[in-house]
Amino acid sequence: TSPNPLSEGFNDPSLFALDSASFLSSASHLSSFEVLNVIGTLPDMQANETRQAIDLASEAFETYSKTTARQRKELLNRWHNLIAENQNDLARMISLESGKPLKEAMGEVAYGNSFIDWFAAETLRADGETIPTLAANQRIITIRQPVGVVGIVTPWNFPTAMITRKVGAALAAGCTTVIKPAAETPYSSIALANLAYRAGFPKGAISIVPTSAANVKEVGLELTTNSKVKKISFTGSTAVGKILMAQSSSTVKKTSMELGGNAPFVVFEDANIADAVTGLMVAKFRNSGQTCVCANRVFVHSSIYDNFANALAERIASDLIVGNGLEPGVTMGPLISPVAVEKMSVLINDAVSKGADVFYGNDSNSLHKNKDSSIPLNSGYFFNPVILKNVTPEMECYKNEIFGPIAALVKFDSEEHLLNLVNSNINVGLGGYLYTNDIGRIMRVSEGIEVGMIGVNTGLFSSEISPFGGVKESGIGREGSKHGISEYLNIKAITINY
Ligand code: ADP
Repeated sequence: TSPNPLSEGFNDPSLFALDSASFLSSASHLSSFEVLNVIGTLPDMQANETRQAIDLASEAFETYSKTTARQRKELLNRWHNLIAENQNDLARMISLESGKPLKEAMGEVAYGNSFIDWFAAETLRADGETIPTLAANQRIITIRQPVGVVGIVTPWNFPTAMITRKVGAALAAGCTTVIKPAAETPYSSIALANLAYRAGFPKGAISIVPTSAANVKEVGLELTTNSKVKKISFTGSTAVGKILMAQSSSTVKKTSMELGGNAPFVVFEDANIADAVTGLMVAKFRNSGQTCVCANRVFVHSSIYDNFANALAERIASDLIVGNGLEPGVTMGPLISPVAVEKMSVLINDAVSKGADVFYGNDSNSLHKNKDSSIPLNSGYFFNPVILKNVTPEMECYKNEIFGPIAALVKFDSEEHLLNLVNSNINVGLGGYLYTNDIGRIMRVSEGIEVGMIGVNTGLFSSEISPFGGVKESGIGREGSKHGISEYLNIKAITINY
């Protein structure tokens, strides 16, 4: 049996123990499930436990929703400080659960925590309005009230940040929450909830329902059909988002959906190639290519296409060191599962069969440095970075989200050609990237690409300050920014005659 790192190497192992984090103090009657890499086992909760968590959240809502904005601000500030104090342990847990390099995990904790800080301040700004009416003896005022119990379902790629973006806003608004984390990464959410209780949030404000992949459907069904839950906030695949929306319709729940994307990364001929390569390294290879805003289709102008590909290959060879995320020096971890690795091979084979060239990586990649030379290329969960050239719209890696370290380079000839190409037959629109120094082109292309967010001359645009979300089948609603808290508030109009 594997050693249990939950008891080793952490300053505070109790952070990750299922105690106050969960609504169940004793779950010994449940069977357990193993968490990825067998870092531990957790009780495998089902519909019954989900219902209990919802009941608890519903009870807690009665009092928590009546706290003052200042009280909620204070609680969120304390939680923010505790997360910052425990950044090392939380980051180590993220690396263990998801495989990402420790440096990226430290960044995720800081990024995730920035939402708690942001929404602490937003508690004070959830104001209403007064509306003039035609009648002299009438006034209308609006107030904004918390929607109620929120069901939250999150993915494994950002085990901490995908939770804080939602829970920070929900708790700031005065809502209480029930969270179903991904089966691959439940410990990070348990640690966050433990810290929230230490900060003073009441029991029922945050309940974690850990569950294995086998029970996900029934837990999801309970969350989306239980009438005590007033809102579902989900981040994950478009396919699952559609299921949760359909299920939520039975009780007309509000929904926030942050779903898959197919981000274009566009490099015009006037761009600084070195800067564009730097941006692509972040936009493509961060988290081994497993983020919903990762560059998916890299459109490069034909006049700089070969130069750009060469520069990218050089940068990959010098900067990406694949290995165990906890080892110093490693800059790219494994993929989340053997299925994910298999998918990369399928995408490459499909592209090659339709005319693409493997320009870097895969079998021809003798150049690539692995941190541990005993890790054979493309075995286990590891997959080395690959550049494909001559990618075209018929290929699966163009049509679908790659979610792995394959850079798919597409050639284009003009702005008009690019705009025709980029939106056609693509039914999602989350993030996009644009490299050019022509201000007119920046405006035309930014406005023309059908997405919710664009980075111009940057490979990174996500922060607590900016509204995060998509158009088309990439989702509904926005997270972070001054708009984020509105997703958890209902407007009530009060018409007063006097
Ligand atoms: P990913 O590729 O990131 O795993 P998914 O959409 O499959 O994307 O998973 C995102 C989250 O949705 C995870 O927490 C997963 O357990 C959960 N999930 C998957 N299927 C369902 C379902 N039918 N009902 C509720 N949650 C689900």
